[in-house]
Order: sequence, then C-alpha cells, then structure tokens
Amino acid sequence: MIDGYGRTIDYVRISVTDRCNLRCVYCMPEEGVSSISHEEILRFGEIERVCQILAENGIQKIKLTGGEPLVRRRLPELAAALKRIPGIKSLTITTNGVLLEEMYDALADAGVDSVTISLDTLDASVYRQLTRRDEIEAVRRGLRTAIQKGRMQIKINCVPVLGIEEQKLLEVAELAKNHNVHVRFIEMMPIGMGTQFAFVKEDALKHALEEAFGTFIPCGDVAGNGPCHYFAVPGFQGRIGFISAVSHKFCSECNRIRLTSEGFLKTCLQYDNGVELKTILRGGGTDEDLRRAIGQALA
Ligand code: SAM
Ligand code: SF4
Repeated sequence: MIDGYGRTIDYVRISVTDRCNLRCVYCMPEEGVSSISHEEILRFGEIERVCQILAENGIQKIKLTGGEPLVRRRLPELAAALKRIPGIKSLTITTNGVLLEEMYDALADAGVDSVTISLDTLDASVYRQLTRRDEIEAVRRGLRTAIQKGRMQIKINCVPVLGIEEQKLLEVAELAKNHNVHVRFIEMMPIGMGTQFAFVKEDALKHALEEAFGTFIPCGDVAGNGPCHYFAVPGFQGRIGFISAVSHKFCSECNRIRLTSEGFLKTCLQYDNGVELKTILRGGGTDEDLRRAIGQALA
C-alpha cells in the first residue's frame, strides 16, 4: 500500500488491549486507563479479518502490542492465526516481560519471530520508581528464559529519562555485550504522559556510550529495523540502536499504521487521523467496504 505521501506501508501495529500490569510514569497514570468494556474491544476474529485484508493489500509485518499484550487472554491463539495469513512474513510482539517466562513457549510455538522486552533499568528501586510496580524479578526471569531458549529474536527497548542517573544506561547497553540481544534506546516522545518528561537526546547518550565502550560503527544488518538505526560496538554480540522521533525525525520513512484495541485504524501515532473499522466490522460491512475505508484513510 502506498499512502498519500508516497510512503510504502507494509507494517501494522495492533494493540490487543489497553490494560497493563505496570504503570510506567511516562505512559500511564497511577490509576490506569479507564477500562474499556470487553464488548468494545475487537475480538480475535475481527482482528484476523482486518489483517487478512491488510495482507492482501501489502502488509507483511504485524506487531502485537498494547497496553500490555500478554495480559490479553489466549493471545498465542491470535498470534498463531495471524501468522498463518498468506503474505505475513513477520510477527513480533512488544511486552514489558512480566508474564513472558510463563508464556514464552506458547508464543514461540505460535510462530512469533521476535520479542521486544521493555526494560528501562536493571536497578530494582529505579524500576519500581519508573513502573510503579515491583516486577523487575519477573522481567529478569522472562529475559533469562528468552535468552536461554533462543526460539525468538530478542530486542530490548529502553526509554532514558532525563535526570535519573541511577537508571544506569551503560548497564542496560551491556546486555548487548553479554548476550545476542539488540538494545534500543528510545527518545521519550511528547505524547500522553510523556509530555511531562524531558528526553535524553540520542547524540548525548551515544557520546557517553562511546566513551565507555569505544567507537560505534553504523550497520544495517538488523532485519525489520524500521525507524531504528543500529550500531556495531567492539566486543558486543548484539547491536545498539536508537529510535529518536524527536531529535532525528523519521516521518518521511514511516512504513506503519496502527489498529487500536477498539478497532480504529490510525495512520499516525501523533494524530487522531484514521478510520473507524469496528463500525464496518459490526455493521455488516463487506470486505470491499473495509478495503475502501482503509484505502481512503491511507490516501
Ligand atoms: N506494554 C508493552 C511494553 O511496555 O513493551 C507494549 C506497549 S508500550 C506502549 C510500547 C513501548 O512504548 C515501550 O517500549 C515503552 O517504553 C514505549 N513508550 C511508552 N510511552 C512512551 C513515550 N512517551 N515515549 C517513548 N516511548 C514510549
Ligand atoms: Fe504498560 Fe508498556 Fe505503558 Fe509501561 S510502557 S505502562 S508496560 S503499556
């Protein structure tokens, strides 16, 4: 699919729930998001139907996300169904890792190719401060399971928060030294609760990391990197990457759309533009109706 700006769109991120078992300070208020009722959330069959149409029109990659995707019941069943859709080459998941240990094998069996674990610090007290929950041990176990079993590629997402020295970003980066995992530093985006925090600029962080680990060498060998630019680091098994929506804007290369848990197809993370697919899905709309609505939103 080509959008109105001439960009090829081949990637959809699907939020399977708004709920989460953490309360990261830059993402959710302490009380959580207002829980949308069960009936408002797209059912698996509805998500599958939308993905089938998207795949017929050029979408090749699906990311399952949230909220926290692993809190959605029977998620591996959805993953397996999506992976079977002709044309879908890659199925990935982004998780906070709290439930990963127990769900790891079911996700790998379902055909999930890659798991991204969000982990902003290895320090237990900073983790508690940032996520408002005491779950770092569960995340560590999830990461350990993922490394030991090695059935899915592993990436780590880390959002540096300005002013929290104890976040110890060098320690997070070292996960890529000691293991075959890619560590990506994400600039805090001024969306939602993120507007209340100052972000750490990529260039400043890269400089600090290079002082500690040596010169970073740009590399393009990580598949499905999207807006992330990666570097090889001497002596590191994995890569270090940066996703810098603020200091290195990448809108012109954007290749993705988003399906919210309530069935709204969003064409940009930053704006509310898009199309309501749930009303078509539940109002007796045909596949052609869905295709037309998606095409109009992209245009
Ligand atoms: N709950 C899952 C998780 O945390 O991995 C998936 C959803 S979460 C919204 C996806 C990613 O977005 C996480 O890596 C999180 O750190 C990141 N994120 C959330 N709010 C952000 C913000 N304001 N700026 C940049 N990244 C953010
Ligand atoms: Fe939950 Fe992920 Fe948001 Fe943290 S970033 S509150 S884990 S959805």
